[in-house]
Amino acid sequence: MSAPTPAAPQRFVLTLNAGSSSLKMGLYGSQSDTPLVVGLADRIGPEGVLKLKSGTGDPLPAPEGDLSTHEQVLTTVIASLRSAYPGLDPAAIGHRVVHGGIQYTQPTLLDDAVIAELERLTPFAPLHQPHNLAGIRAARHAFPGVPQVACFDTAFHRHHPWVNDTFALPRALYDEGVRRYGFHGLSYDYISGALAQQAPHLAAANVVVAHLGNGASMCAIRNGKSVASSMGFSALDGLPMGTRCGQVDPGVLLYLMDQKAMSAAEITELLYKKSGLLGLSGLSNDMRTLEAADTPEAAQAIDYFVFRCRREVGAMAAALGGIDALVFTGGIGENSRLIRERICERLDWMGIELDRQRNARNALVISTELARTTVMVMPTDEELVIARAARMNMRAGRDPQHARCAPYA
Ligand code: ADP
Repeated sequence: MSAPTPAAPQRFVLTLNAGSSSLKMGLYGSQSDTPLVVGLADRIGPEGVLKLKSGTGDPLPAPEGDLSTHEQVLTTVIASLRSAYPGLDPAAIGHRVVHGGIQYTQPTLLDDAVIAELERLTPFAPLHQPHNLAGIRAARHAFPGVPQVACFDTAFHRHHPWVNDTFALPRALYDEGVRRYGFHGLSYDYISGALAQQAPHLAAANVVVAHLGNGASMCAIRNGKSVASSMGFSALDGLPMGTRCGQVDPGVLLYLMDQKAMSAAEITELLYKKSGLLGLSGLSNDMRTLEAADTPEAAQAIDYFVFRCRREVGAMAAALGGIDALVFTGGIGENSRLIRERICERLDWMGIELDRQRNARNALVISTELARTTVMVMPTDEELVIARAARMNMRAGRDPQHARCAPYA
């Protein structure tokens, strides 16, 4: 492959986000926040597909090579990158890890003890944690001695007041870890940092961030800290999503088990893969497809999504005791004029009033000049949060004395 411009810097950090059969990668220089290369390997195995793009989105030739395991994908990608950036050796590697339990409140340098702790948390996120750990193992094997940092989706929410951290279940369950962890923390961390730069007067205010993508949640933030999240013990709770149900009465699950004899695996499949926009529309999990469709079911799926989002803005504002700004992010939040408009149209009582033209062009501020509550659209960048945390640890080596895991930005 040919080297993307500008000239290759000397030191690199690599970000990895490992799923069951996918691996997202980002290669960053030591200074710039724009990635040099981003990669997505999908269907890892005999049918694996690998796509690479430059940081500006131009497709790069996909390298030939073995894509049968996460480790092979890494080896293939790095071999190809080395021909573009001679001498390439990542100075640090950052990993997205879905669950950091109650103990990890910031990015953490990985060693055997931390990895054992993360393994112990697998029962709390059985669908994701094992794949994140597989990515970590693959990277440690491919790059022995390179500092590796775990960045947790749960960490940003770890300072919730107790009432937002618990369920009304017997205390023993709370004590063993059945809590409202909250997720999408890397996205909220990014938005919170970007807000502090772009609208500093709002940084200390009451802000509700709506991360609306295939996964969707909301977060109440004050002074850059998460106060409440719509997601709870798992990434199922709260808003309806592409294929996930969002909040559902637990009595429904009892009914499915007792009356329909569904197994845990079947219920898992139903709640994670067959519900949400897909389940309601019977058509698609993709908002663009639903917006373009003309079936009553697609319209109802959108109605439900909008209704639950609007309801959650109210709940988050109540948790904060007011709202000064509402920020939309994620694929739907950043791009769908229609969904933003519909969520906001009955929130005028909260001081929310959209400027239609600004909204139509996805402007940074989409509220009117005189609106009491500022409404904004901000693209999120979870990979950059990971890259920054990795960058801070470039010199850490295996010596925890040099570990610098304090704030992300
Ligand atoms: P993920 O949670 O997998 O990262 P994204 O944040 O990329 O997902 O969001 C994907 C969602 O964003 C899809 O439902 C897609 O239809 C929606 N989306 C992207 N662009 C638009 C658009 N222009 N209008 C409406 N929806 C959009």
